[in-house]
Amino acid sequence: MSKNHRGSGIRSLPAHGRGTCAICGKTDIKVLWEKEINGQTVNVCKFCNAKLKNEARVEARKAKPAAEEAPAAEAPAEETPAAAE
Ligand SMILES: [Zn+2]
Repeated sequence: MSKNHRGSGIRSLPAHGRGTCAICGKTDIKVLWEKEINGQTVNVCKFCNAKLKNEARVEARKAKPAAEEAPAAEAPAEETPAAAE
């Protein structure tokens, strides 16, 4: 579970899971993360995956009925300690 994107798990993949990222366009980078963008599933690198994940988290935070209206630019003060990622 923890090393889905490393080692023997990706050796069987074509080009060891490497290719061109659909978002940043980097070549010969591991594109093992599937993301759905505009209804299309694309493979992205870990940086774009993290970026999308962060954006989704910010959106979820905004959508949540926040008790405090903290701007997103502020330092992420943990209001919920049990933030399971
Ligand atoms: Zn990328």
